[in-house]
Amino acid sequence: MKYDAVIIGAGHNGLAAAVELAKNGWSVAVAEASAEAGGAVKTREATLPGFRHDLCAMNLSMFAGSAFFNSNKDELVAHGLGFVPAVHCFASVFRDHSYLGVSTDIEKTVAGIAALSPGDARAWREMVAEFGSDAPYIFGLLGSPMPSFAAAKLVWKAWRQKGTGWLYETAKLLLASPRDFLDSRFENPKLKAMMAAWGLHLDFAPEVAGGALFPYLESMANQSFGMVIGQGGADTIINAMTALLKTRGGDLLLGTAVEKIELENGRASGVRLADGRVLTANRAVISNAHPKLIFGKLLGRDPSRAGFDAKLEKFRAGPGTMMIHLALDGLPDWRAGEALKHFAYVHIAPDMEMMSKAYAEAVGGLLPVEPALVVGQPTALDPSRAPDGKHVLWVQVRVLPAEIRGDAKGEIEGRTWDGIKDAYAERVLDILDIHAPGIRSQILGRSIFSPIDLERENPNLIGGDNLSGSHHLDQNFLFRPVAGYSRYKTPVKGLYLCGASTWPGAGTGAGSGFMLAQMLV
Ligand SMILES: Cc1cc2nc3c(=O)[nH]c(=O)nc-3n(C[C@H](O)[C@H](O)[C@H](O)COP(=O)(O)OP(=O)(O)OC[C@H]3O[C@@H](n4cnc5c(N)ncnc54)[C@H](O)[C@@H]3O)c2cc1C
Repeated sequence: MKYDAVIIGAGHNGLAAAVELAKNGWSVAVAEASAEAGGAVKTREATLPGFRHDLCAMNLSMFAGSAFFNSNKDELVAHGLGFVPAVHCFASVFRDHSYLGVSTDIEKTVAGIAALSPGDARAWREMVAEFGSDAPYIFGLLGSPMPSFAAAKLVWKAWRQKGTGWLYETAKLLLASPRDFLDSRFENPKLKAMMAAWGLHLDFAPEVAGGALFPYLESMANQSFGMVIGQGGADTIINAMTALLKTRGGDLLLGTAVEKIELENGRASGVRLADGRVLTANRAVISNAHPKLIFGKLLGRDPSRAGFDAKLEKFRAGPGTMMIHLALDGLPDWRAGEALKHFAYVHIAPDMEMMSKAYAEAVGGLLPVEPALVVGQPTALDPSRAPDGKHVLWVQVRVLPAEIRGDAKGEIEGRTWDGIKDAYAERVLDILDIHAPGIRSQILGRSIFSPIDLERENPNLIGGDNLSGSHHLDQNFLFRPVAGYSRYKTPVKGLYLCGASTWPGAGTGAGSGFMLAQMLV
């Protein structure tokens, strides 16, 4: 079978590249190892019939704000894509059983902050106002190839309009740790903890340089634009993309892993599938598979590439994550107040000290005593995902070791995830029960994905790393995945990379797939 481009992997970036190339007249095929498309964006009845759980990503705000969505919006919506907005976006609960949250109504958010610190309430308003004029530049940079003329032009334009002082402040934001940034802007520890929790969605403990950006962006973007989840499940974006791909003449081959990349005179000329079929690619082979699954594996070693391979070898995974999916009789009875039942996310990460400790334990190979929890309540927004009156709960456990060297609490003896995941899930439920008493009695069904289960589900999540590569500064921007190769090319002619391991990294923003396709056409 002959195509202009063959894409390895039907994650949302691979699909975005395929949809965009097909729009520009390329013949494309996407070959996916799993029987389901979507990679880290899948929805499944993981516990009981009628309970639809987002296995990994739940928050689709990045997709909704993406250039890819913007460029294909009408067709995607016509193919069934739907979002459900959250009015109450995220909150944190604290040890004294109070909470602080961000709702799209700024007066509501500010009232909560003002009760803690009137000065911080003013600072929050100022930050939101600044964000209004900064956002086009920051999102513009995150949506430009790195490096590129477009990125340089944007910086130039920002300098002309906002001045040198603004550039310095923005550079500081990009480099600062969450703690340093938040200490410089606010005084109340609860507000700072509420924002810093977003750092742990990536792999930024409060003290890690470069970690300030995500807490800043998530806090300000949720305040300014809100959050969205998928109508019926996060898979709404995948279903719409695969349907649109087919409409545009693309082929999607599921349940058939790519086993080899074919070369002709040193150029990638196609792929060989596990079932023996060969797909020829006249113009490009695009990998949405993690680069470590490609080089030295699907491609075999080549001495002429030794420098690149050695650098890629050092591309680090972030810490692991665990997902606990619960089918519930009702929403959790939050001790901090009924109002929490309306929030899309509730973070159980009550102070920066526990975040730092959990991170240090996890990167040291220990099961954290007190992990940070992201508790997603999708059915608070979208009841269609569960039978009448019932609910699903999405609990992401941050952060965990891929390989277990011990238990920081000294209670769990096993050293394999298969052996201990149930015991560790009980620790998580104990923490949840402190903030939502009686949660265990509400559970109708559960499904637990350890870091290793997540990798089994999607080989790109190496060691359960939900980022497909740490986002620390030495692996981001110009350095993702390897310095000199941040513009999706590889040392092999005709072979390109996209996906979370490449700029602009993890999340559902479809940025790499979309930008790569635009660079190719
Ligand atoms: C638990 C979890 C929760 C998350 N929550 C959020 C969230 O709420 N919001 C958000 O924005 N982001 C979230 N993320 C991050 C986000 O989901 C991912 O960064 C993103 O979906 C990755 O997309 P991708 O296109 O890079 O590839 P992936 O989704 O990783 O897909 C890669 C695909 O390639 C396939 N593949 C690999 N090797 C081969 C091969 N040899 N042959 C064929 N196919 C192959 C895989 O099977 C997979 O389907 C979360 C991630 C995880 C793991």
